[in-house]
Amino acid sequence: MKIGVLALQGDFDAHRKRLEELGAEVVLVKKPEQLDGIDGLVIPGGESGTFLNLLGDAGFEKLKQFVRVKPTFGTCAGAILLATEVENPKQVGLGALDIRIRRNAYGRQIDSSIREGSFSGSPLEMVFIRAPKIERLGPGVEVIGTEGKDPVAVRQGKVMAATFHPELSTDSRVHRAFLELVSNGTR
Ligand code: GLN
Repeated sequence: MKIGVLALQGDFDAHRKRLEELGAEVVLVKKPEQLDGIDGLVIPGGESGTFLNLLGDAGFEKLKQFVRVKPTFGTCAGAILLATEVENPKQVGLGALDIRIRRNAYGRQIDSSIREGSFSGSPLEMVFIRAPKIERLGPGVEVIGTEGKDPVAVRQGKVMAATFHPELSTDSRVHRAFLELVSNGTR
């Protein structure tokens, strides 16, 4: 299984390591044409506005085509990029996940924290860094992870997103769930 990690900016290397530990072959995607050779893609955390700038119009369009057909997993800024609606400030999204997401939604006081949430029904450590919050879930979106009352991990078809950073915890269940999605297609 060849998994790409978008490597324009942000903490892509932690995803690379985790995916390799789980047996995937990883390609660091720096050019749009590299999307043609992979079975799935991880869009890491970072700064979503900066991702948009670095992608440019052509890169954005190519990525938009990719996420419509191939499994993709976005964490934090990656989740923001995948959304249909982005707030605070408003910004374009790839439209692969029917959610409204608010950037930097926890405020400055608690902009980063480690909390216990629940993933697929079991407790999971979750690292939040200037995290967004999912404010609206479309009818096709399944919640697979929660923290308190908030949905923090979701799935719609072949697309998965988490508002936290699973690559920064030792538990590999979230990445394993994504690799399963890539190998099974939609379940
Ligand atoms: N605050 C960032 C954004 O709005 C996301 C933070 C992250 O990816 N850790 O894009």
